[in-house]
Amino acid sequence: MDATRVLVTGASGFIAKHIVLQLVEAGYRVRGTVRRDAKAEEVSGMLRRHGGDAALFEPHLADLTSDAGWDEAMIGCDLLVHTASPFPRSQPREKFGLVDVARGGTVRVVGAAVRAGVSRVVLTSSIASIVYGHPGRGERWFGEADVSNVESSDISPYAVSKTLAERAAWEAVDGTRTELTTINPSLVFGPLLDRTMGTSVQLIAMMMSGRLPVLPDVTFGIVDVRDVAAAHVAALTASKAAGRRLVVSAEERSLLDIARQVAEGHPAFAGRVPRRRLPTWAVKAAAVVSPPARMLAAELGRTKRLETAPAREILGLAFRSGDEAIDAAASSLLAEGLVTP
Ligand code: NDP
Repeated sequence: MDATRVLVTGASGFIAKHIVLQLVEAGYRVRGTVRRDAKAEEVSGMLRRHGGDAALFEPHLADLTSDAGWDEAMIGCDLLVHTASPFPRSQPREKFGLVDVARGGTVRVVGAAVRAGVSRVVLTSSIASIVYGHPGRGERWFGEADVSNVESSDISPYAVSKTLAERAAWEAVDGTRTELTTINPSLVFGPLLDRTMGTSVQLIAMMMSGRLPVLPDVTFGIVDVRDVAAAHVAALTASKAAGRRLVVSAEERSLLDIARQVAEGHPAFAGRVPRRRLPTWAVKAAAVVSPPARMLAAELGRTKRLETAPAREILGLAFRSGDEAIDAAASSLLAEGLVTP
């Protein structure tokens, strides 16, 4: 019997490459959508380099902004992993500026999956769809039942796009035979598989290259990309995953804590890694005129704890520590020559 075929959208992304590699290692056939031929070659090259069978990977050109190619992409696919979504290094000025691509793309992709009778869709959502725009300070727990408030003035365009895209996916499968699981990762570190850097690992690169002299007092959940990929693969077949929003995160760490670990794990960079905290008054002053600073100000001194027990139990996973995820990201940046001591 032929191996199960999975469609992975945005196969050239940082997280998606790990998903493609793990799927191929598990014996799946993978059709991966990319925007350009050069990206298809990048994914095949990554597989060859890491011992994955590149013959199991078949690229397919499609863009989230166009209807073209999505129905064809689904032909012969039993399962879908939808990772593609804009994750820009700087936020657009317009609050809803990423929604057309993220939400519109999700409507196209999940709609095509439903039409094709795909049995399960695993969507790469984010904790950005869960934890933002809520009132209150200090420590608060967030989980599956929480949804970011897109009406808030403190929410970023990226978080708005992820929240509305996820909502559109739930609406698209409602009343159909297609099951949906969302994987909602926190900030993803861990190793790069090639020289293409994802937006999240860029933060570590900026710390290592001395481009961040001070850091605001904000805390994030962090997780290793290998565990995020494993969560997607497990969610394709775990029976209890259907209909769930699974938060995937190892632990919460402040930005200064992350920087401390970068310096400890890679002492040659210790002189450049930021050690000082950006004063709260400076963030608040900037917030008066700058929307990104206003979003940062809303996060100051808050700790968002994440309920990850459902993901661990349903998917049968244990997550690597934050230190391991940070060290692996820093080591791969060094190995790829993307940072130099
Ligand atoms: P990347 O930027 O590496 O991956 C994004 C992927 O989306 C790329 O393959 C990109 O294609 C594709 N894409 C963007 N716009 C379009 C478009 N118009 N049409 C088709 N494809 C498009 O980021 P990550 O791997 O980090 O992110 C992958 C997913 O994970 C995203 O949905 C992101 O929101 C989510 N996520 C990421 C987290 C993180 O910390 N990294 C945390 C939580 C969620 P191309 O390669 O051509 O640019």
